[in-house]
Amino acid sequence: MATLRFFDSHTHLNSPAFEKDCDRIWEESRQSGVESAIIVGYDLANSERAIELCRRLRGTYAAVGVSPHDSVKAPEDYLDRIRFLAQDAAVVAIGEIGLEYHHPIGRHDIQQKLFQEQVALAKELDLPIIVHSRECESDLVAILTEQKPRRGVLHCYTGSLQTMEIAIELGLHISFSGIVTFSKDESLRQCVADTPTNRLLIETDCPYLAPSPHRGKRCVPQYLIHIAESVAAIRQNAPHVIADSTFQNALDLFKIEQ
Ligand SMILES: [Zn+2]
Repeated sequence: MATLRFFDSHTHLNSPAFEKDCDRIWEESRQSGVESAIIVGYDLANSERAIELCRRLRGTYAAVGVSPHDSVKAPEDYLDRIRFLAQDAAVVAIGEIGLEYHHPIGRHDIQQKLFQEQVALAKELDLPIIVHSRECESDLVAILTEQKPRRGVLHCYTGSLQTMEIAIELGLHISFSGIVTFSKDESLRQCVADTPTNRLLIETDCPYLAPSPHRGKRCVPQYLIHIAESVAAIRQNAPHVIADSTFQNALDLFKIEQ
């Protein structure tokens, strides 16, 4: 696997968990073959931090947005501030945005409002969206169907096969995380198997969700290789097929020229 190139479609190298050592962590990831990554913001300050890191971590790109977790705390002018941040050359997506109904983190109507507004902003700026979704499928489908984003990805996908098929129909990509390395959920495996090859992405979502055999540790982009191996096994592909196709899909989705 040492000669393969990987693209980690969802990282939080801008998280406080990497404050002290993100340069070293990213250098190790590059040496292990994880050459490129999206650094995803979840609120305004953290989105700015994503842009800042992209200036010095080679092969990284930023996404800016307010996540459902942070939607209740968002200042009134948050949308203008995201629009401003999105002008930076490092920014390739609006995210992460979406709906989170599993954890009791805030009113659903506020989450929906911010989600809709940021999907509309992404369309205005011709940027893809990076969507967080948990236990919200009917509202998610309603908003996506109504807003019709131009491009985007359902990140860390763990939803139903039916919702995945609707997302594919709408032109979206699907990204799978370390959960695929340890989950016994048959429907998740089915989703991994059924995602069209040209819509498939992989991600670590680091520092969260470390894959097997590193569960419980701080997750790092280097662990993406374990996720690629699991996805390859489920799809009965060689790992290099998954590495190559997910790398190319990320370049296409985020319009990155290399
Ligand atoms: Zn995330």
